[in-house]
Amino acid sequence: MITQFTEQNFLQFTLQHEWGTAIDVQQTLANGTRMEIWDSGVVCFTPAQEASPFDLVLSSAVHGDETAPIEICDSLIEAIRCGALQLKTRVLFLIANPAAINIGERFVEENMNRLFSGAHSKGEVQNKERERAKAIEGYVRRFYNEGGRGRQRMHYDMHTAIRDSKHEKFAVYPYQNGKPYSKRQLQLLAALDVPVVLLHDGPTTTFSYFSVNEFAADAFTLELGKVRPFGENDMQKFAKTKQQLQHLLTEGYSSYEQSGNPNELAITIYKVLRSINRTQADFRLNFSADLANFTAFRKGDVLAEDGDTQIRAEVDGEAVIFPNANVAIGQRALLTVTPIEISAVRMNEQ
Ligand SMILES: [Zn+2]
Repeated sequence: MITQFTEQNFLQFTLQHEWGTAIDVQQTLANGTRMEIWDSGVVCFTPAQEASPFDLVLSSAVHGDETAPIEICDSLIEAIRCGALQLKTRVLFLIANPAAINIGERFVEENMNRLFSGAHSKGEVQNKERERAKAIEGYVRRFYNEGGRGRQRMHYDMHTAIRDSKHEKFAVYPYQNGKPYSKRQLQLLAALDVPVVLLHDGPTTTFSYFSVNEFAADAFTLELGKVRPFGENDMQKFAKTKQQLQHLLTEGYSSYEQSGNPNELAITIYKVLRSINRTQADFRLNFSADLANFTAFRKGDVLAEDGDTQIRAEVDGEAVIFPNANVAIGQRALLTVTPIEISAVRMNEQ
């Protein structure tokens, strides 16, 4: 059992212990910030004097080849460790799938972002990604529970996309179980340089929906740009996002509350129109494999052919995201979305 952490770099340590390790570190940094390491890739920081009313989970590498969020978290973690950032917000960093990072792949055996809300334990399949997803659920539970009742819970699960996108950065706002969306959170997303939000319309097995559903967290999947290998990310493109994350860690909400008129939400909102599943072995998408996310079609355009059935756009501007013809039969091959007016979104003021 490791009880003292003297490694130079937390990410490097994590990559050397790719499926977790016996570790229980509780150290106080020179500036009073408390650092607890619960597993490889799992570090919790508690500020000496807490000012923020929320607890924040920052997760990366649910997909191992999505490097920019890992680099952002690495740099924030080391800045906290060395005292360059003076925390006011309690934060849990999760580097979800180190083994996938090590091989430079999205996952080793199974897409981890389909394994949450207990999906890791359904069926006969057993693999390390399932074990890791289950362990990660436990760390999130511990983090929010130790923060205590009455505190707001936030979670940004950070990704980059495989394909190009008409909107470089966008957030998926998970299904809220019927509750209204949060205006404040939409403002925060705009401040994070994520000005496009897709409202999801049902329960899923993603990490962000897990935090919404189990902890009533304000949780989001953030798509921050396109996948690149380590060292090839243009970090300038992520500078604003990273800076705003730093503000959340060191100032809480105050940095964004002073900026701009909250009633003028500079944000574009899409809703899900429908989910198109592959039902036949003979399934084809009627556009090129590298089609950019949010590409819009005209009413009547053929989107896909599922056996003998032609699937056509139902409305002008129906846009396609996350297409994948190679999913298993019965699974989602693409999602279609359409922009909606902000006034049509049911929001509260928090
Ligand atoms: Zn991803």
